[in-house]
Amino acid sequence: IKSIVLKKRPEGQPIVSDFEFKSEDLELELKEGELLLETSYVSVDPYLRGRMSDAKSYIPPFELNQPIQSGVIAKVIDSKNDDFKEGDYVSGMLDWKTKQVSNGEGLLKVDGNIAPLSAYLGILGMTGLTAYCGLMQIGKPKSGETLVVSGAAGAVGSVVGQIGKILGLRVIGIAGSDEKVELLKSKFGFDEGINYKTTKNMAAAIKEAAPKGVDIYFDNVGGPISDAVLFNINRFARLVICGAISVYNNTELPTGLSVQPFLVKNSALMQGFIVSNYAEIFPEAISELSKWLKEDKLTYSETIVEGFDNIPYAFIDLFVGKNKGKMVVKI
Ligand code: NDP
Repeated sequence: IKSIVLKKRPEGQPIVSDFEFKSEDLELELKEGELLLETSYVSVDPYLRGRMSDAKSYIPPFELNQPIQSGVIAKVIDSKNDDFKEGDYVSGMLDWKTKQVSNGEGLLKVDGNIAPLSAYLGILGMTGLTAYCGLMQIGKPKSGETLVVSGAAGAVGSVVGQIGKILGLRVIGIAGSDEKVELLKSKFGFDEGINYKTTKNMAAAIKEAAPKGVDIYFDNVGGPISDAVLFNINRFARLVICGAISVYNNTELPTGLSVQPFLVKNSALMQGFIVSNYAEIFPEAISELSKWLKEDKLTYSETIVEGFDNIPYAFIDLFVGKNKGKMVVKI
């Protein structure tokens, strides 16, 4: 059985030597109520960076020398639990291990005939829920409004933009390459895309793409990109603060534009959220996302990296934008 533990808390950008690969010869014995799982897909997500630090957050930090956990799809290969049988597939927060024992708590059965198994880590999993809940609950989109999305070609961002289009908004995406900007328009139906790496004056570019101003900003990245969007907000704008990947690797507390005057003069709302705040609307979210998928109104991209040993590399690559859509590791 292979596992990956956190060896060292990353300083700045995570590196492979922050992780340790372990391998043990173990016969896993099941007690009554337990099941044996074999890992099929592992989700790597930017928020895991926060859990690798020991700073206080909404979720406790990973412990050193203990396996890292993230969203995982696993196959039940043996079961002494009446709720799960051999051959079932489940999703849950599980260890970065090739095989593990679970008591079934927190596991959900997933059906590979309804959607590909990896989709339960993305569009029909945590990132799809994040997009739907953040946009609907805080963004409160109305047809005809203008929505700007940062991190737009990523797992959350690409879904946010498409929901915006389904609801009749003008949608502008910000991403880190010309290829991603093209994908935003050709695959995900965004009206405009901006490559933040090659655009010198982001505030001017946003103004040009959003001539009527910005009503909703769905922020995945923070930092100077978000400051540029804030210069262009309208009265009663809603700023959905989903993530801030551009500052996750900072070693000093960030300082930047003081946005308060923009919020005051525009009576704008800026609100952060954690997807689990909205658990009561998950059933509605999954039902809407599944319906739109079936109707071909919604599509998704995945970057699938193969091999258990590549999990840390796939995680690190999130911070240099190697992924289009959801980054997933297939075991
Ligand atoms: P993504 O699929 O968007 O992957 C990360 C992307 O971020 C990369 O592809 C890269 O795209 C972009 N990026 C990396 N570094 C920078 C940088 N310095 N400046 C600007 N962009 C950068 O990840 P997710 O969709 O899973 O997550 C998106 C955001 O949502 C994250 O901030 C995450 O923490 C947050 N999140 C929040 C949740 C919540 O409950 N609030 C739940 C889930 C996610 P590019 O090539 O465009 O630079």
